[in-house]
Formats: sequence, structure tokens, C-alpha cells
Amino acid sequence: MSLRVEVVPVTPFQQNCSVIWCDQKLEGAVIDPGGDLEKITAVITQHDIQIKQILLTHGHLDHAGGATDLSQQLNVKINGPQKEDNFWLDAMEQHGQSYGFPGVKNCKPDTWLNDGESVKVGNETLQVFHCPGHTPGHIIFYHETSRLAFVGDVLFKGSIGRTDFPKGDLQTLINSITQKLWPLGNEVRFVSGHGPISDFASERQSNPFVSDSVLAR
Ligand SMILES: [Zn+2]
Repeated sequence: MSLRVEVVPVTPFQQNCSVIWCDQKLEGAVIDPGGDLEKITAVITQHDIQIKQILLTHGHLDHAGGATDLSQQLNVKINGPQKEDNFWLDAMEQHGQSYGFPGVKNCKPDTWLNDGESVKVGNETLQVFHCPGHTPGHIIFYHETSRLAFVGDVLFKGSIGRTDFPKGDLQTLINSITQKLWPLGNEVRFVSGHGPISDFASERQSNPFVSDSVLAR
């Protein structure tokens, strides 16, 4: 048994929404449905899976802008992020208008998620880690069995999340990466909010913001 993953880039920002499911029970979750819901539901239909929840890494509109509509369409709950991102989720309609994202709705998660908690997807378990810095309530999801992390806008292949937003902080983000992500192991691969999949070993080797050699300076 294992966790299946299909990454679906959505919104004009090409945000990586992930449809994940347990291949034993065919029950799944949608991580960060920012928009383009027809692309997401096409994947759900194609694999004949039953979505049980929506998971959010953080409150930015390209990650959470479609969550309210999708939760109503699928009749499922929205879980995450950590509650300090509430101010972002409450401002999505307003930001959607300024960024030209039509139809974005504000989002009220059914439960906030905290560091050390876990979520079940069919028979699979993902651990939750609070990784603030890009936003104050940003969380990541880690599937230990397949050594795969869904890190939102914390870390990218060759880059890190922006920290120039309200309540963003560079040192806090670097601490999240070095104290929450790196201890999971060098071999861990990660799906970012934007761009290609990478692994922690590669980033510790060559990421210009958080490589071991850059941080040792
Ligand atoms: Zn973001």
C-alpha cells in the first residue's frame, strides 16, 4: 500500500496543487486548491477516488483561493493551516480582486492544524509541522513512509519563500527550514508550491539561500 500523488499546477501563478490518495482505500485529500477547480476534479474523476478533506499549507490566495468552492462541491472539510494565517484567509476576496483572480472566496477552515498533529488519508498518515516565516501560520505535511513532504511556499528548488509580506520574517523561515525540514532526512523529496520537485540533500548542497555552506558563513 502506498500514497499516490498527482501534482496539478493551478492559477496564473502555476501553484502546485497536490491530489493525494491511499491506493488501498482510494480515499484522498486535495492540498492547496488555489483555483482552476475543473483541473483538480478531472484528476479526482480520472482516478476514481473519494476526496475526504481539503488541506491547506497557508492562507495565500493561489493556495487557498478555491478551497471554499471545492469544499462545497465535494462536501468535505477544510483542515489547516495553523490559526495565525487567519488574517490571510479573511483577506482573500480583497487580494483576489487586486491580483485579478476572479471568483476567489474567503475561507474559514473547519479545523486549524498545529505542530505535532497528523492527518489521515485513507490508511496513510501525514505529519504536520509548523513552519512560519513566509506566513506566520504556514504548515507542511510529511508522509514518512514515502519520504515525501508537501512544503508549500517554505522551500523551493533553488530558492525559499518570500518574507516581505506582513508577519513574514527571513530568520524565522530559515529556522523553519533548518530545524523542521532538514531533520526529516537528506533523502526526503518535497513538492513545493511552485516549480519542480527536489530533495533536501540537493538544497543543502546548492540552494543559494539555505545550503549548508551559505548558512555556515
Ligand atoms: Zn505563499
